[in-house]
Amino acid sequence: MAQIVDGRVVARESLMALKSRISRLKRPPGLAVIKVGEDPASAIYVRRKTRRAERLGFYQPDDLHLPEDTTQAVLLERIAALNLDPKVDGILVQLPLPAHIDERAVLAAVSPDKDVDGFHAVNVGRLAQGRRSDDLMIACTPKGAMRLLAESGVNLSGAEAVVIGRSNIVGRPMAWLLEQQNATVTLCHSRTVNLQSHLKRADVVVAAVGRAEMIKGAWIRPGAVVIDVGINRREDGTICGDVEFDTAVKRALAITPVPGGVGPMTIAMLMENTVIAAEAHQRQ
Ligand code: NAD
Repeated sequence: MAQIVDGRVVARESLMALKSRISRLKRPPGLAVIKVGEDPASAIYVRRKTRRAERLGFYQPDDLHLPEDTTQAVLLERIAALNLDPKVDGILVQLPLPAHIDERAVLAAVSPDKDVDGFHAVNVGRLAQGRRSDDLMIACTPKGAMRLLAESGVNLSGAEAVVIGRSNIVGRPMAWLLEQQNATVTLCHSRTVNLQSHLKRADVVVAAVGRAEMIKGAWIRPGAVVIDVGINRREDGTICGDVEFDTAVKRALAITPVPGGVGPMTIAMLMENTVIAAEAHQRQ
């Protein structure tokens, strides 16, 4: 049976480690979480982020829940004001945005030094170039997934890593991070022919597709480390990952559960990015 890499425990440790860094700051870190409209899933994610920030004593500006019919111009004005606000270190715009708003224009409007989600083209470009300064804003989910890989004890240098999914928020940055740790990376996606043949040689599997249990346990190479990023709802309402856990756990060396794996890490890394931004701002 595989080692279960518990994201809740690793997230708790990461958050604990932030407390002493926060206490050394001259003022609390500031995080602005903007939500436009009433998407129910977004509401849950935003609540989790703001609550966690509150518990860490972050400053959070009021009135960032904007109505569905907010124009792009108004949203950009709000972001411009937050970019200039010295109490705000991080700005996060919860996605998806309503269809009438251009997501790219909005993400580009966030100042790169406050881009705690790591989605701005400047931060993505720096990551892709392999520039690893301490204050680089790296997307929270792949950053958290890398921490869980470290926790598993796997040696990434020379390992065969297969990432499934090429989204800008998970798969692509994940592939760059793995390559920078000297893994040999294969990035699979919806047009990949014969996914199983790639998985056969994978020492590390990162699944970020969004399809319930599509990766069968039998496809996992015995002894592989499996990071399951997917969050899916089964027909009976329960939550599962992209990997068929019950069978994969018997073959893998280590595996992350869903829920309780990558999910808690994403929020912990958002808090960490905000502290990193606050430290950088207070050094200036
Ligand atoms: P996305 O829809 O943007 O991307 C999905 C990717 O999967 C695409 O690149 C596509 O090419 C690939 N894909 C689709 N079908 C495939 C197939 N049959 N074989 C191989 N690849 C295939 O999704 P995303 O935003 O990257 O999210 C992926 C999953 O991760 C979702 O379940 C999402 O809910 C979850 N997620 C979790 C967290 C977290 O905090 N744990 C954060 C972000 C996303």
